[in-house]
Amino acid sequence: MREAPESTKAATVPLDFLGDLRRTHTCGELRASDAGRRALLMGWVHRRRDLGGVIFLHLRDREGVTQVVFHANLDPEVHRKAEMLRLEYVIAVEGRVEKRSPETVNPNISTGEIELVAEKLWILNDSRTPPFPLEDDVEVSEEVRLKYRFVDLRRPRMQRNIILRSRVSFAVREFLTSQGFLEIETPFMTRSTPEGARDFLVPSRLQPGSFYALPQSPQLFKQLLMVAGLDKYFQIVRCFRDEDLRADRQPEFTQIDLEMSFPQQERIFEVIEPMLEKVCEVAGYRIQTPFPRLTYAEAMRRYGTDKPDLRLPPMYAVEDLFPPGALNVGDFPLMAIRIPGVGQLSRREREELKAFGSERGLRVYDDLKRLERDFPQALEQVRARVGCGSDDLLLLATWAGAVQGQRPLETALAACGQLRLYAGQKYNDRHRLLDSRDFRFLWVTDFPMFEWDEQERRWTAAHHPFTSPHDEDLDKLTTDPASCRAKSYDLVLNGIELGSGSIRIHRRDVQSRVFDALGFTREEAQRRFGFLLEALEYGAPPHGGIALGLDRLVMILAGESTIRDVIPFPKTSRGADLMCEAPSPVPEQQLRELGITLLRR
Ligand code: ASP
Repeated sequence: MREAPESTKAATVPLDFLGDLRRTHTCGELRASDAGRRALLMGWVHRRRDLGGVIFLHLRDREGVTQVVFHANLDPEVHRKAEMLRLEYVIAVEGRVEKRSPETVNPNISTGEIELVAEKLWILNDSRTPPFPLEDDVEVSEEVRLKYRFVDLRRPRMQRNIILRSRVSFAVREFLTSQGFLEIETPFMTRSTPEGARDFLVPSRLQPGSFYALPQSPQLFKQLLMVAGLDKYFQIVRCFRDEDLRADRQPEFTQIDLEMSFPQQERIFEVIEPMLEKVCEVAGYRIQTPFPRLTYAEAMRRYGTDKPDLRLPPMYAVEDLFPPGALNVGDFPLMAIRIPGVGQLSRREREELKAFGSERGLRVYDDLKRLERDFPQALEQVRARVGCGSDDLLLLATWAGAVQGQRPLETALAACGQLRLYAGQKYNDRHRLLDSRDFRFLWVTDFPMFEWDEQERRWTAAHHPFTSPHDEDLDKLTTDPASCRAKSYDLVLNGIELGSGSIRIHRRDVQSRVFDALGFTREEAQRRFGFLLEALEYGAPPHGGIALGLDRLVMILAGESTIRDVIPFPKTSRGADLMCEAPSPVPEQQLRELGITLLRR
């Protein structure tokens, strides 16, 4: 719990009113060419150095810091007032801009060539001692940062992140609007849309016992907008998913969501690629377009994942270079993995990679000397195929575990892919293989339509149930769901899924068949999605779209490693807002109005 506020305490220093004071500049604006000018700045006391007759301040606002000097011999009254200032006090200060002498120029700040010689000072508010220093490089626990988020957000790095986020959103709006997209809002209080997570529910007071669901995405509404003829929709929209917050997830997060009528998937890519070019430009990066495209099957074969990190080389199947069955087991391939520039590994390091592989069902051949002796020619051919230099690490791996799942080959390739990534990341420090500013976007296309849910023992939609199957796979929907491909695509950046989308089903008969394949009864489909099915009967055009994760995109552009650092008020991994203490119990009366009784408190 928070301690009781000291709200009634009198300020420790006499405070001034803002009155009609106006800033002439921000704290990041003044330059040598302004020397001699008068200026009035407002902001927070970021640093303070009292040398007796002279007091130096760094005055900070979101645009930067400016050095302010108070000379006792200029105006003892103002100087005395300045002696009362402490960190994070809010002040206004007026004076003359002076050029600093060359040896006192501070090249680390944009205003480093000047200082403001203070003639007047207004103390607009005092501050308790901040819970942590407002420098970027201090170690503060995240719990404390989140509890005092209003202070944490003052740190220059956080300010940069939030400002970047705003610029990215603006660039998206500007670009999409220029391409004829309409920004249209869709409801937050709605009914369940299936994106595979749990819904957050909002009880209805007017209809006790009934609930709204917060949208996991605007999926159905954007499709209905296409049925309504409002072609080219977009929205930068909050989505809500009640998941166990593994990894870097937030219960509410933001998507750049869009939808178009009459598109092929390439049409969607043609919108997203230049949009991302613009967005990256905002962050100071140039990227290469068009992005490479890989089908899901190719991505699995070459990278062992549907989110390939292209900064590491692909894997190659090489079993054909060895006598049949010499190294690979059964029908499983033998994969060659190359990690550039790693050099010789110690025995312990090799053992460790081997152990990582065998925990995942792989047999890893790391003793190349022995293989070299047994299969000299084959090994030379392997090296040529994968482009292996003398300093590169070469691993050969095959599946040695039990045959698993509906798509056993994928299980094996996925394990090889994990080994590739593990080795790449592990030796990254040594060789900077994974430069976070090397943006390697790619499209992964043609995902399987269905995934097998072992627990429920049924097929589920790999993307969502409104995704269109490939035209030529329509007949396989119920007869051979495992090999049915979807018109869906993911945008991947450096091993991270940035977004996904699909061409949708626009025909009622096809939608019903997909619901059948997913094991929905007619009644269930009607109950949950009756309005969509009906809309599809009123001239629904072919349509498709995509949604990109804004939080992740900004995180990558800001060079951060968690989305919490680019979200102003994020939640903890337990879904809590530590600052305003949400979620929280509500008074009995409020529950009664909603017709709710709690089973446990
Ligand atoms: N609604 C989908 C999602 O949130 C994206 C899309 O298919 O457009 O992942």
